Amino acid sequence: MKSKDRLLRFTFEHSPVRGQIVSLDESWRDCAKNSEASDQARQLLGQALAALTLLASTLKIKGKMILQIRGQGPVHLLVAEARHDRGLRGMVRQQADITDPAAPLSQIFGADKIVITIDNGNAKPYQGIVPLTGHTLAEALEHYFQQSDQLPTRLWLASDEISAAGLLLQQLPPAQTDQELDTDSWNRVNHLAATVREEELLKLDAGEVLHRLFHEESMRLFEQQPVHFDCSCSRQRIADMIKSLGLDEARDIIREQGNITVHCEFCNARYDFDAVDTEQLFATTSPIAAQPTRH
Ligand SMILES: [Zn+2]
Repeated sequence: MKSKDRLLRFTFEHSPVRGQIVSLDESWRDCAKNSEASDQARQLLGQALAALTLLASTLKIKGKMILQIRGQGPVHLLVAEARHDRGLRGMVRQQADITDPAAPLSQIFGADKIVITIDNGNAKPYQGIVPLTGHTLAEALEHYFQQSDQLPTRLWLASDEISAAGLLLQQLPPAQTDQELDTDSWNRVNHLAATVREEELLKLDAGEVLHRLFHEESMRLFEQQPVHFDCSCSRQRIADMIKSLGLDEARDIIREQGNITVHCEFCNARYDFDAVDTEQLFATTSPIAAQPTRH
């Protein structure tokens, strides 16, 4: 039986290599269920979510990591988010058919970069720009790790209607104290990992995939961690957004449409604010109303 919606971390004995394997199942279907994009666009979203879940859990963040591609191509917007508690959400939007499915990603998105944001709850989130090179997201992200001074990282990603999955290997600085350090292991396990097939990542249990790939290595597996779909939208957040429009603009929308209706693009939740709700939003936060009366 395949264990679903799980992330599994592993290491190799006496080796400066760590890895993770993830399977997104129900969490992935929940992320994709409102999408009207084509299969190919949805597969890109699934791969982005798998990659981000893996990358976010290599970082000790208390917050979220966001991957965003925005362009003018057939697939013009992709957003994937992974939080430190392994809550996920994502969306992909498509405005035209993909005429050449084998085209490089820069053409499919009409964009030249991936923006990665790490929001650690600090005032200023960290933002990294990844050139959108090659034909797969794994390729683009690996290229980024090669160019930047981050730990060498390899990724294998797969996605279909049922699941999205990924495998990550990362080379750590070698521990000087390890007398039996196996310095060749990075190359060796990369060669082994490169034989993984998409079907294996999607259909098999994580333990079975690792056994098939690395059965000659001595490994340590950690406890599997659950992954889940979780949208962070709320009525309060939408209220804050309406407040940021200002009272005049909010009244204009009410006058034209009767209501302010907002659909969450991640989970399709619908939030309605009528004229009374809207007036109340501004009444309770008006700085004049909040000031004590002076006599
Ligand atoms: Zn939502």
